[in-house]
Amino acid sequence: MTATVRTRFAPSPTGYLHIGGARTALFSWAYARRHQGVFILRIEDTDVARSTPEAVQAILDGMQWLGLNHDEGPFYQMQRMDRYKDVIQQMLAAGTAYYCYTSKEELDALRAEQEARKEKPRYDGRWRPAPGKTLPTPPEGVQPVVRFCNPTEGSVAWDDLVKGRIEISNAELDDFIIARADGTPTYNFCVVVDDWDMGITQVIRGDDHVNNTPRQINVLKALGATVPQYAHLSMILGSDGTKLSKRHGAVSVMQYDDDGYLPEAVINYLARLGWSHGDDEVFSREQFVEWFDLDHITPSAAQFNTEKLNWLNAHYIKQADNTRLAGEVASRLARRGVDPEAGPALESVVALYKDRASNLNELADAAELFCVDVHPAEEVVAQHLTEAARAALRSLAARLAGAAWEKPALNQAIKDTMAEHGLKMPQVAIPLRVAVLGVPQTPSIDAVLEVLGQARVLARLNRYL
Ligand code: GLU
Repeated sequence: MTATVRTRFAPSPTGYLHIGGARTALFSWAYARRHQGVFILRIEDTDVARSTPEAVQAILDGMQWLGLNHDEGPFYQMQRMDRYKDVIQQMLAAGTAYYCYTSKEELDALRAEQEARKEKPRYDGRWRPAPGKTLPTPPEGVQPVVRFCNPTEGSVAWDDLVKGRIEISNAELDDFIIARADGTPTYNFCVVVDDWDMGITQVIRGDDHVNNTPRQINVLKALGATVPQYAHLSMILGSDGTKLSKRHGAVSVMQYDDDGYLPEAVINYLARLGWSHGDDEVFSREQFVEWFDLDHITPSAAQFNTEKLNWLNAHYIKQADNTRLAGEVASRLARRGVDPEAGPALESVVALYKDRASNLNELADAAELFCVDVHPAEEVVAQHLTEAARAALRSLAARLAGAAWEKPALNQAIKDTMAEHGLKMPQVAIPLRVAVLGVPQTPSIDAVLEVLGQARVLARLNRYL
C-alpha cells in the first residue's frame, strides 16, 4: 500500500492568477486526480503588505473557471499563526532553533567583513548554542529573532522529479530566521509547517523555489517529518524566448475568459506547456488526467505560443454544444448592451459560425449582426448596393415574400433572380449579405437567410429597395 497522494497549490495572493501559476495548479491538480489523491488549496497570505482580498478572489475565480476543484481548503496561512508559533516553541525547546539577538548594525558589520574577505555573506552562528560554548549575554530590551539550527555537516539532497538529483552542501546554508523579532514566522517556515501538517506527498511548484527547498527539507527533518517528493517546474518563456510578460500572455487567467477562450482550450494548452504524451496535442481533461505523470515534464523552459492556443480554442469552439455557446454569446452581447433576445435563437446563429470563429468574442460579433439593426458603412453601401444590385434585390424580395422559409426554397429564389437579371451568384449574394447583415462576407447565404427569419430579412432588404 502506498500512501494517498496529497498535493497542493499554494499561491501568494499578491496579484491575479497568471498563466504560470495556472499551469502549476493544473499539474498539482492532475497529479492528485491521476492517483485518486487529494488536492489542497492553500493561500500564502503572510505578506500582509502585498496580499489583497481581491487577489484571493481572483485566484478562486481563476481556479473555478479552469475547473481545478480542490478537496481541502482553501487554508489561509494568516489563520494558522498560532500553529506556527507553537512549532517554533517546540523547536526552541528541542534545541533545533535558538534566539538570536544580533542587531542590524552587527549584521551589517559582519557582512562588510565577509565581503572584504570575498566570502559569501552569511550569519556566523554567534548565538547558536553548542556544547562548551559560552553565549553572549542577551542585551536589555532587544526582542530576539529565532533562527533554525541548520546542520553544519554533510549535505542536503533530493531527487527532484523534474530536475533530477540536486545536492547542496550544508556549509552553503546558514541558520536562517524562522521567526522575526515581532514573533511572526517567516515564509520558508510556514511552508514547511503547512506541508507537514497537510501531509503533502508531492510538492509541485515553480523552479523559482528550488533555492528554498534545501532549507525546507532541513527543517522538516529537524521536526521529524516525512520529507515529500519535489517537482520543480521550469519557467514559461514568451514566444521570443524572453521572460513571459503581459505582451506574451502573462495575464490573468480571467482575461482569457474575457478574450473569448474556452476553459478546456486553456487547460489543453497549459497541459502541453512542458509536458507531453507522445505527439498528442488535442486531448480532453479526462485523457490528460489519465495520462499525466511527472516523468514526461521537460526540465527545459516551455515557450508560450499564442497561435497554438488560438488554434486549440477554435477546435474546442467547433466541438462545443450550441446551447452552451449560445449562453456564452448571450452574456457577451448583454455586456455590450445588445439584447440577446432581439434576434433569432442564438443556438442557430452559433451553429452557422462556430466553424469559423477562433474565439467567443468573434462569435458574439457575428451574432450581434443578427440582433441589431445593422447599418453598413456608406462606402460599403456605395460599393455593393448599386442600382443594378438593388433591382435584383427588389425582385428577390418579391420572391422571398412568398417563399417557404427553408434553404432549398430560398436557394431557388436566389437562382431565379440570378437568371432573371443575368447575374452570377456573387452579384446577388454579396449585395444581399450587405443588405441583411451589413457585411459582404457571411456563411452560406441561404443558411443566413433561413436563420435570420423572413420578417427580419424582408424588413432589412426593404431599406434599400
Ligand atoms: N506561495 C508561493 C508562490 O506563490 C508558492 C510556494 C510553494 O509552492 O511552496 O510562489
